[in-house]
Amino acid sequence: MYISDAIAGVRARIGEACQRAAFLEEPHPQRKEEDVTLIAVSKTKPIPMLQEAYDAGQRDFGENKVQEILEKYDHLPKDVRWHLIGHLQTNKVKYIADKVAMIHSLDSLHLARVIEKECARINRIMPVLVQVNVSGEESKFGVAPKDAEPLIRDLSGFPHIQVEGLMTVAPFVEFPEENRVIFSKLYQLFLDIKEKNIDNINMNVLSMGMSGDFEVAVEEGATMVRVGTSIFGARNYQIKEIET
Ligand SMILES: *Cc1c(COP(=O)(O)O)cnc(C)c1O
Repeated sequence: MYISDAIAGVRARIGEACQRAAFLEEPHPQRKEEDVTLIAVSKTKPIPMLQEAYDAGQRDFGENKVQEILEKYDHLPKDVRWHLIGHLQTNKVKYIADKVAMIHSLDSLHLARVIEKECARINRIMPVLVQVNVSGEESKFGVAPKDAEPLIRDLSGFPHIQVEGLMTVAPFVEFPEENRVIFSKLYQLFLDIKEKNIDNINMNVLSMGMSGDFEVAVEEGATMVRVGTSIFGARNYQIKEIET
């Protein structure tokens, strides 16, 4: 399948999920298709495939490794918005501080201090999402739901960090419905924090949903979905040397 067709197909499914959400009861959000940003997750995929997506109009790309963003950055047009969606090590922040549009994986004050320092140095304000480990799986990064608001209160004092919302990585499940409760919990947390009107904190972005479950995520309030496999096909980690 052509990547352009795959993107159109995913966008159509996002549109249908928005329509279905309109029939769900409160407190379900009402989402319009244009309120949902599709992030094409291009990790492990070669530059010509990203270019094909770009030519089809795609501008938001997600990568989970700093090294891979650096390898691809110069090969794509400058109006690409790179989203760092994977775990970020403090010693790598300096390489991407001027390159990424948003960091989805902020989950500690320690990391925030480094982002603050690097962004102060280059005089930019970094949009970030606080990653929340809603499922409680030990293998997942992110703060526990109860720790999200305290961290966000601390972040409100960082002049070069702008919190825009929350992100989660849901478990890998056989049936997408199994993750509905994860998404609705994150949406509720998002609403609770939004209601507090914390100084300097925006709660506008909710990044959740991947190829297997993005429609359920949209029904439960996602404003960004991170879709790789359904756009670019399955990943083969064995043949990629840049995957660690
Ligand atoms: C790989 C990845 C995705 C996309 O996964 P698919 O199942 O291929 O759509 C989304 N979010 C994160 C954080 C990822 O690492």
